[in-house]
Amino acid sequence: MAGPTRTCVGCRKRAPASELVRFVVAGSWDDFRFQPDPNRRLPGRGAHLHPDPACFAQAERRRAFGRALRFTGVADTGPLAEHIRSVSMPRGTTDDQAARPDHDPAR
Ligand SMILES: [Zn+2]
Repeated sequence: MAGPTRTCVGCRKRAPASELVRFVVAGSWDDFRFQPDPNRRLPGRGAHLHPDPACFAQAERRRAFGRALRFTGVADTGPLAEHIRSVSMPRGTTDDQAARPDHDPAR
């Protein structure tokens, strides 16, 4: 019935793994980034986050990304932020409506 659950590094709540975005650290030397892994295929240690900008912000403020991945260096959160933004967009919204994800009176 219930699939595997994971803890969101933002709000620290447990949720089905299928509802969370997996991400890993990718890169080399001094050029690292947090890489979203929507297909759950990338090797290495992964951490999980709700596809929600609020969870992203919480995790970033607490520096939870690196800690969850046991990564002590500096990594770019840009690719992950982009991914969260794109998947948290209201459904049915396509390219031309991308500017104001917050303003959604229909919800
Ligand atoms: Zn969360």
